[in-house]
Amino acid sequence: MKPADAPDNHLTLVVAAFNEAASLPLLQPRLAAALDAVSMEHGIGGGILYVDDGSSDATWAVMQALAAQDPRVSLLRLSRNFGKELALTAGLDRVVHGAALILDADGQDPPELASQFVAHWLAGFDDVHGTRLVREGEGWWKRATAHAFYRVMGRLSKTPIPADTGDFRLLSPRALAALAQMRERHRFMKGLFGWVGFNRVALPYQRGPRAAGETKFNFWRLWNLALEGITSFSTAPLRLATYLGMATALLAFGYGCWVIGKALLWGDAVQGWPTMMAVILFLGGVQLIALGLIGEYLGRLYEESKQRPLYLVDAWQPAAGVCSDRI
Ligand code: UDP
Ligand code: MG
Repeated sequence: MKPADAPDNHLTLVVAAFNEAASLPLLQPRLAAALDAVSMEHGIGGGILYVDDGSSDATWAVMQALAAQDPRVSLLRLSRNFGKELALTAGLDRVVHGAALILDADGQDPPELASQFVAHWLAGFDDVHGTRLVREGEGWWKRATAHAFYRVMGRLSKTPIPADTGDFRLLSPRALAALAQMRERHRFMKGLFGWVGFNRVALPYQRGPRAAGETKFNFWRLWNLALEGITSFSTAPLRLATYLGMATALLAFGYGCWVIGKALLWGDAVQGWPTMMAVILFLGGVQLIALGLIGEYLGRLYEESKQRPLYLVDAWQPAAGVCSDRI
């Protein structure tokens, strides 16, 4: 994997892009300037790795044009759209020496902060994560749901997942090596980063609006991401089902005693159709919810058990000097 004598003083900017043909040309000069600044201030060389997550627009052609202009740019293209989490995994897998800084392709994560991230890394931190102070250009609904999600997640998960922290972060070589060992299919990157541990520090920043193009995360995708996060990092919902079952059983027992007592004392004229329907329907509903919950976990178990590769690579164009052994 990692050559023993590989220099660790290297920084790779990893950018996952899905249909970002409009944003990438705006991002590239900022990334190049950020690398120059890092090299000036800290004497650390760097490269850029763009991962094309199976885009259907001109993203790949745009990337190739950018790589032709800048010898520091490496390109990776996946065989289809695997989603941001896997695209990032594919990118990080190819950072074989030095640290990696993950950024969004739309310029929402300011590359100008790269120097500050590196300063923290050099000070001994392994996971420097950007924490959003404001989220410009995002509606109240997205902000409110994101806020609620981070709070619920924080309560449910035993792994520390800092609130309002996205994927904008720098990972030290040893954090990257640790991450590379986690090959689970259902990847909730924010949780995985938290699981790794080591020395962590938050770097507050202002999250700007998208430079161009549209968000790739609609409500449905975010909902699925939230489900992924919760089921990957907590089994609390399963326990909730147990408690719900116990509570219902207790109630049912009390009610049963009452019904039997009543029948013994006053006899049992046939009645109670509405109560019976209410109880049957309620219990049916509770059971289906519990079954669905178990199904969510079982489905994930099934997916993992297949042991398929996480992603497939269509093309890998390493920049000069970048290891090209792994594909
Ligand atoms: N992205 C990706 N694959 C996908 C969806 C998104 O690589 O299937 C990338 C996208 O190109 C961008 C980043 O993930 O660089 C964040 O996406 P977006 O800006 O749409 O999300 P938002 O900032 O709105 O949450
Ligand atoms: Mg964005």
